[in-house]
Amino acid sequence: MIQIVEVSPRDGLQNEKVEVSTADKLALIGRLIDMGARRIEVASFVNPRRVPQMADAEAVVAGLPDVAGVSYIGLCLNQRGVDRAIASKEKGRGLDEAGCVLVASDKFGIINQGQSIEQGLEANRAMLKSAKAAGLKPQITISAAFGCPYEGAVPAARILDLARRMADAGAEEIALADTIGVGVPGQVGDLSGAVIEAVAPIPVRLHLHDTRGLAPANAWAGYQAGVRVFNSALGGLGGCPFAPGAAGNVGTEELLYLFDRIGESSGLDLAKAVEANHWFSTIMGRPLPSRVGKAGDFLIEGERVPS
Ligand code: MG
Repeated sequence: MIQIVEVSPRDGLQNEKVEVSTADKLALIGRLIDMGARRIEVASFVNPRRVPQMADAEAVVAGLPDVAGVSYIGLCLNQRGVDRAIASKEKGRGLDEAGCVLVASDKFGIINQGQSIEQGLEANRAMLKSAKAAGLKPQITISAAFGCPYEGAVPAARILDLARRMADAGAEEIALADTIGVGVPGQVGDLSGAVIEAVAPIPVRLHLHDTRGLAPANAWAGYQAGVRVFNSALGGLGGCPFAPGAAGNVGTEELLYLFDRIGESSGLDLAKAVEANHWFSTIMGRPLPSRVGKAGDFLIEGERVPS
């Protein structure tokens, strides 16, 4: 069993020029739940002047359907973000998880959220603590873990150190993000395995971008190293406003195809994902990047391979 965390409503859309309405975002979230997604990153609490697509974060959260077993994640880049995530719980169903972010390079950290690594560590310690105290699952993504758009290579030893320090600070899940899509399978497997060992029993999640076509291969390398939780976005949507050249997230369809074919279930349905892809492409006004979304599932003697 693997677990998919669907990030299309947040990382999939944050860099899109097409303005997606709150109603369409909620319709997308409904489709993701219908596909079988049980953890969904629905919004990020950022400055709307910097990321206009996320300006309706509160409205999206207020409209979330209350479905048993579904966990909603809000991305929080600072304490103000955590405070907004906590406030969502006071106005109704609200969020379940605060997804905090630690950038693993000084230069990218300063551009992305105005802080060095050390400042990020200090801020995230307080953020994880206040999220936990308010009943939100405190989890963290280490961003640019496999390479930085401004500084280049990021030493594996630094990522291990940051992961340990965030585990000590109470993070209940640690994600390694290939924010700009530069990682290669050997690197992703080695670093994932080392971090899993360093923070066990805390689960390690992978967040991959397909900028250079290696995201599915990187997911496979992570899986072989022991990773069982993966972020992905319907249709391979996405990019990062502050990471030049970053392409979409690994497509949910790609991961479903990759893992269904070895009998490793995620609980998500590939045929429904392909249907949702086609529906959402009409909202975006263009085909979505996912190649499995275009090609569909593999057929044997006219029958869909059972998943
Ligand atoms: Mg991303």
